[in-house]
Amino acid sequence: MTRRLSLFGATGSVGQSTLDLVRRDGESWQVAALTANSDVAELARLAREFRPDIAVIADETRYADLADALAGTGIEVAAGADALVAASRQPADLVMAAIVGCAGLAPTMAALEAGTPVALANKEALVSAGELMTAASRASGAAILPVDSEHNAIFQCLAGGRIDQVRRIILTASGGPFRTMSAADMARVTPAQAVAHPNWSMGAKISVDSATMMNKGLELIEAHHLFPVGLDRIEILVHPQSVIHSLVEYIDCSTLAQLGSPDMRIPIASALAWPDRMATPCAPLDLATIARLDFEAPDETRFPATALCRAAIAEGGARPAQLNAANEVAVAAFLAGRISFPAIVDTVNRVLDAAAPAAPTGLQDIFSVDASSRAAAQQFVEQFEHA
Ligand code: NAD
Ligand code: MG
Repeated sequence: MTRRLSLFGATGSVGQSTLDLVRRDGESWQVAALTANSDVAELARLAREFRPDIAVIADETRYADLADALAGTGIEVAAGADALVAASRQPADLVMAAIVGCAGLAPTMAALEAGTPVALANKEALVSAGELMTAASRASGAAILPVDSEHNAIFQCLAGGRIDQVRRIILTASGGPFRTMSAADMARVTPAQAVAHPNWSMGAKISVDSATMMNKGLELIEAHHLFPVGLDRIEILVHPQSVIHSLVEYIDCSTLAQLGSPDMRIPIASALAWPDRMATPCAPLDLATIARLDFEAPDETRFPATALCRAAIAEGGARPAQLNAANEVAVAAFLAGRISFPAIVDTVNRVLDAAAPAAPTGLQDIFSVDASSRAAAQQFVEQFEHA
């Protein structure tokens, strides 16, 4: 049986890993849509290989380039944010949400509202609009299948019991490239150092988030929406080898864990094939060679981002959307060499301090919170830049 897959963020790290699996299992898949932000050449190359019904480039100014690149192929071409949403409403058996940032929220929501199951990598969408997304999923019956390795691990461990029997969820964290670095040294790290993750090869934004540990904070918020066991039952544990991807402890003190090589194709395959399983080319786990697994408590003094995220989701309302928007702007400014590494979390802090509380009730409210928080973050970035 062939299944129709729409892939949002096809040119990214998760997008390419997804297509690697689809390429190896070609008979099982028909690609309905492929999208990218601005890389026309790569999107056109992928479209020629995978023959989707439609290819969408988010950057409207690149429409003509994409149309030229796909002329004569019969593949429909579209551009812009509305075209992304229209593509996600097209009939499909699964949408892979692999856009980075809140930019992925509108198409992901549209898929859930249309009743299409979503394999969710795009954690920023869930952080910004968790209540709306989970409500849309409940209303249409479209499942959200977690792709983030920790959440995919928890999802798999939850097959061993019921959510009301969970005592604790333990989210593991690698600790990132600066796990053992002093705060003074972290003040001088470069973007190149920050994106060099010890275990995972990922896009630039999530790599920086891993370095600040904002990624684990965003994942705490993500876990809270996906697995409603109560915020105080979700803990973070640093595990530098990234072999145990997370754990679920049940009321009988039985703890289930999911293990695997740090290769995103494993959780992606789990979400693609669910409730079935599919073969992957990934390296099986060789525990005798790994020999030992280490664990330590997170250091929230050197890495304040996780506590910031916990406070934001505890407060609720617009806080997580404000936090996420500020972080996106600050990470981009750090990657552009405009602000220092510690100024990322400082920017987020200042935006949260300055922002008025709000209780968004719909997607438009989230978009306006996102826009105003971005504007505020830009101002703080300029202050840090000229300090
Ligand atoms: P990436 O930067 O490698 O790719 C991002 C994709 O989104 C690209 O295809 C890009 O063209 C597209 N995109 C970017 N901005 C856009 C916009 N404004 N509008 C439309 N499309 C846009 O990112 P990634 O590492 O693949 O991460 C994607 C998502 O998956 C993120 O939310 C990330 O947190 C999550 N995730 C990634 C990994 C990983 O290993 N890379 C692991 C877990 C979760
Ligand atoms: Mg993760």
